[in-house]
Formats: sequence, structure tokens, C-alpha cells
Amino acid sequence: MIPLPCDIKKQPSTKISQKPLWQSQLAQAFSCPLDLLAFLKIDAGNILELNASRAASAFKMRVPRGFAQKMQASNPDDPLLRQVLPIGKELDNPPEFLSDPVGDQHAKITPHLLHKYRQRVLLVASAQCAVNCRFCFRREYPYQAHGDFSQELAYIRAHPDIKEVILSGGDPLMLNDNQLGKLIAKLNQIEHIGRLRIHSRMPIVLPSRVDDGFLNTLQTARAKWVMVVHCNHAQELGADVHAAISALKAIGVTCLSQTVLLKNVNDDLATLCELMEQLFNHGILPYYLHTLDKVRGSAHFDIPQADALCLYDALRAHLSGYLVPRLVTEIQGEPYKTLLHAPLAF
Ligand SMILES: *Cc1c(COP(=O)(O)O)cnc(C)c1O
Ligand code: SF4
Repeated sequence: MIPLPCDIKKQPSTKISQKPLWQSQLAQAFSCPLDLLAFLKIDAGNILELNASRAASAFKMRVPRGFAQKMQASNPDDPLLRQVLPIGKELDNPPEFLSDPVGDQHAKITPHLLHKYRQRVLLVASAQCAVNCRFCFRREYPYQAHGDFSQELAYIRAHPDIKEVILSGGDPLMLNDNQLGKLIAKLNQIEHIGRLRIHSRMPIVLPSRVDDGFLNTLQTARAKWVMVVHCNHAQELGADVHAAISALKAIGVTCLSQTVLLKNVNDDLATLCELMEQLFNHGILPYYLHTLDKVRGSAHFDIPQADALCLYDALRAHLSGYLVPRLVTEIQGEPYKTLLHAPLAF
């Protein structure tokens, strides 16, 4: 058996917790690949090749239990498991796979602010996520300790052409309601900010994050909210996600999705059609379908661009126009995310 850097198991606390449910669920997330595989009744020897342990030390595994419950037991090829389980292939190093494939470091204005595109800035609001996706293009991002975002807010204040602030990360919903509320209060004072956007995977992987405290916090904003959830497979959805999205929509949040095209996870027509239809059924409008950003450690998720285009063409031929996300890739220095196809005809 290959040794893995598992956390030492904490004794369950007998104290009654004052924490919100999402925080205690987060504390119980799987962080040891062997525990996750045991839970799924998968023989670790069959799936964890040599080097899996080094991959897990380089980028820790984190999987909320609710997300693990959506995986199929006894299936080592489960599309949700593939996204989160550290494997030895992550140490393959083809030269075109880079530490910063999208040029984040060139777009960095202050320690936590990226300004790439006009009218909007991206605030790296948290260094943490509820789930660590093995293909994450920020898996090597040099996150810096967070303070009060004073430099970031000063820049936004000084640039009246900025109309929208995107809270991203990491996952911005890893901030607690108090931290989010303070940030919103400061953004409320900047008159030219009319829209606030959240890019998060938490409404999908830890939907209990969308609780009353969170909804109340969002409602303290003067600006309009947009929530872009990251979801890659219909199996990630369910009644819990549906409830979270319904609650967001009930307070007027526009809900959109982004998906990464991933080999052996969602790179076939039936899977993508099902995902887009189910997103809509959950109240989410498909927005972006990203090709993989070539970050080190993710080569085994890559598919040739010609195959992506072919798949996308088939998707457009199958679905109603509004169910088809934009197929995009991020090219450093371009003024917007690059469309990989002719514009949608609507
Ligand atoms: C993707 C991205 C945005 C948002 O782009 P939209 O096309 O508006 O969704 C903004 N800033 C950065 C740095 C980005 O990477
Ligand atoms: S949730 Fe987003 S930022 Fe976090 S690891 Fe996954 S892809 Fe990366």
C-alpha cells in the first residue's frame, strides 16, 4: 500500500457547535484519498498508482462528504471522483503545461486584484476552496495572506470605468458571512459599481453554504448580483443544489454556469446535453464552456481542440440556443475570452 499524507483523525468534538452547518460539513470533508476510496468501496490498489501520494502532497485533496455521496460506489471511473482524486499522472510534465497558463500574474494590479478586461475586475477573495479540483488553473497560484482588501478597494475607487467586481479565488464563498458583509459594505460605498459577481463551486459541492445568513448578507449589497456556478456533470446536481439556487433566485440573483471540458469526465455529447438541460432545470442558465487551461498536472484531462469543436458543433445541433454555453478559451493578452466558434445565432 502506498503511504498517503492523510490528516491525523480528529476526535469528534462533544461540544455543541455554534458554527453554521456548512462550516462543520467543511471540517468533515475527505482529505485522505484512502478514506474517500474506502467510503466508495473502491480498492485503492487498483486506482492509486505510484506517485499518487506525491500528487496529493503537491495539491491537497479536499472533497465534501455530500459531494462524495453523489459519486457511484465501486466505480473507479466515476466522473466526479476523477475530478478530485490525486493520481500519479499529475506528475507528467508536458512542456506546454504551465504554472500560470492564463497569465494571471501579468494581470495582477495589487496582491489580490486582477484587471484583464474592461469594465470589470477580479478580486481573489479567498485562497481556499471547498473542493480541490485537480485541473484547477490556479492550483499553483501564489495566494497571499488576506487582509482588508484596502489596496484593491482603493484601485477600484480610483477607476470609475470599472462597473463590476467579480469575487473569485479560490472560492469566495469560503469567506464567512461576516467577512463577506464587511467587503460588501465597502463596495457599497463605491458608486460606479453596479454589479457584483461571484464565481463559486460551493452552491454545487457544498450547497448548505447558501443559508439564511448568506442570503441576508447578499441582500445588504446595493449592486445587482450575478452568481456563476462551476459545474461539470449532471451528477453533481440534485435536490440540495436546486434548493440553494431557488433561494438565490428568490432574492433576485441571476444564476449562470461555467463548465470545463474534461477528458473522461464530460467529453461526450450525451453527457454535455444532459448537463445543460439539468442546469436549466435547476434554474441555472449555461454561460461558459471552457477548454482546459493547460496548467501543470492536468495533461490527462486535455482533449484536442479539433475534438472540442466537433463536440460543440454537435451540442449546438441538439440543444435549444439558450441551453448552449459559449465555448471559450483564455489567451493571454486578448481583450476578452476567445470564442472558439462562430457566434451563436440569437
Ligand atoms: C474570466 C475573467 C473575467 C470575466 O470575464 P467575462 O467574459 O465577463 O465573464 C474577468 N476577469 C478575469 C481576470 C477573468 O479571468
Ligand atoms: S473550486 Fe474553482 S478555484 Fe477551487 S479548485 Fe476548483 S476550479 Fe480551482
